[in-house]
Amino acid sequence: MNTSAFNNLQEIALRVKNCTDCALSADRTNAVPGEGSEDAKLLFIGEGPGQQEDRQGRPFVGAAGKFLEELLASIGLTREQVFIANMIKCRPPQNRDPSPDEMAACSKYLDRQIELLNPELIVTLGRFSLGRFFPGESITRARGKVREKDGRFIYPVMHPAAALHRQENRSVIVQDFSEIPAVLEKLSQTRSGAPIPDPVSQESTSAEPVHSESPQPEAPQPEAPQKVEAAVTEQLDMFSAPLLPQTAEFEPEPDTIPETVAPSTQQLSLF
Ligand code: SF4
Repeated sequence: MNTSAFNNLQEIALRVKNCTDCALSADRTNAVPGEGSEDAKLLFIGEGPGQQEDRQGRPFVGAAGKFLEELLASIGLTREQVFIANMIKCRPPQNRDPSPDEMAACSKYLDRQIELLNPELIVTLGRFSLGRFFPGESITRARGKVREKDGRFIYPVMHPAAALHRQENRSVIVQDFSEIPAVLEKLSQTRSGAPIPDPVSQESTSAEPVHSESPQPEAPQPEAPQKVEAAVTEQLDMFSAPLLPQTAEFEPEPDTIPETVAPSTQQLSLF
């Protein structure tokens, strides 16, 4: 299928709701295309619909969805201001992992959603959606670090459902979400070519204005897109140190099965 034939998100949603391209169409109650703002800066990607999502045809409407809404509220957002989608649009029976064939059949929809939304930041929720961008990587190692893949900026976070099963995961997820506004700000600054504020200098100078003895620099000239992108990537690489001690590997199975990491006692400092 030529996915560029989908001109907008509504066309994708209509196609998904009537899709029979894989065996999952036989058991679903409703397909779940995803929902949110067409102008969203943030795209959240989960694994696939669960029982509640299948019933309602909407993503993240069960207990994990309620926690996701709390997480969004903690950074001043509502679900209507972001876009929430899943890797696979129909619920696999008994919430089993989708098969490779099912994933291959469905990926065209998410691919086109990403193209049309062109989000500033993609937040992957859990191991499964992390694997779309970084196959085989551990969510406990990858979480909380911004990375670039194919010209997109990816910020992996544990799946909200992981906090429902194991309370100790909650603070880790909350902490990673709390960094999202700073990540967006950093991306915005680096894209615009503005100087990057030094957090240490800002702290030490308190409310005093910063005066420079140096001549004022000339206004920055527009950079070639490739150069800006390279600069952004370089900046992100500089601050992608792992936040948790990597003493033990824990790689959960499906997102709905608990993921556990020790809450970080380190100060989160992406930038
Ligand atoms: S899972 Fe995707 S490919 Fe399969 S029927 Fe649903 S929408 Fe179509």
